[in-house]
Amino acid sequence: MNNTRFFRRFAGLALAGWLVVTGSAAAQSAATGQRDVLREITDVVGLKPRFQLRATTEVQNAAAVVYGGQRYLLYNPQFVAAVNRAGRTDWAGISILAHEMGHHLNGHTLRPGGSNPTDELEADEFSGFVLRKMGASMAEAQAGMAVVSDDEASPTHPGRHTRLTAISDGWLRANQQIVATTRTVAPSAAPAVLTARTAAPARTVAANSASALSVLGKITFRDKPDEDYYVTNHLSVVRFDTGARTAQVVGRLTRSESVNYPFVLVDGQQRRLYISRTGSIFDTSGRQVASLSDPS
Ligand SMILES: [Zn+2]
Repeated sequence: MNNTRFFRRFAGLALAGWLVVTGSAAAQSAATGQRDVLREITDVVGLKPRFQLRATTEVQNAAAVVYGGQRYLLYNPQFVAAVNRAGRTDWAGISILAHEMGHHLNGHTLRPGGSNPTDELEADEFSGFVLRKMGASMAEAQAGMAVVSDDEASPTHPGRHTRLTAISDGWLRANQQIVATTRTVAPSAAPAVLTARTAAPARTVAANSASALSVLGKITFRDKPDEDYYVTNHLSVVRFDTGARTAQVVGRLTRSESVNYPFVLVDGQQRRLYISRTGSIFDTSGRQVASLSDPS
């Protein structure tokens, strides 16, 4: 993450003594539960888990380093716990580890120099790929980056929107492989819904963890408050007629390039409505006509 540059450059000096005395299995499970996350990650990409996972407060967040011919994944357990809390899912912390492993597996830690946007996006895409293979929904795969990345790009790191797109690319690539080979119900492909930074952490990411659930959100139109419209995990907008027990597809959500309006709702007549990060839905003249909310 943000400290990678420092640690790639100074790992050999700063960590020499420290690596010898720290990094117990107990410390690892503190942040990752009882799961052997490293093995799970390497399993899904067909590799042996030849990485050393180390919990340490010597790093501010997480870093991938090579020292003495060994590949290390370093993470601050408080940081991972905070990311899991803010992202409201343990997938958030797992994605951080997958990102760091992506630096190793893409060869970034074999080169001198620090973080750069290209390397970061490769590691982000890897994390999306891996998390889909492990069973995470799109929103779960993006949950960690959604809370730790910066809005704007810096010389070393891309901005949040670019990074979430990279995760999405990896997730979709893995999803295509999986859909081509299995018939199981896929986790939701709906991206993480971002809300304003001033919102409470609990509201930062609306992640849907239940892969079998078919409804992700409910849309209420201001002029039709009694009619229920739902967004399915295929991003279709469906109107339920409870009396007739029928459901009719009336539109679709598509992702947009806009940070403030990440989704566009297109109806059967190709009319477009714009969905803000907070779930407000606007027509083309900027009037709020509906809102998107939790389905419950
Ligand atoms: Zn990184």
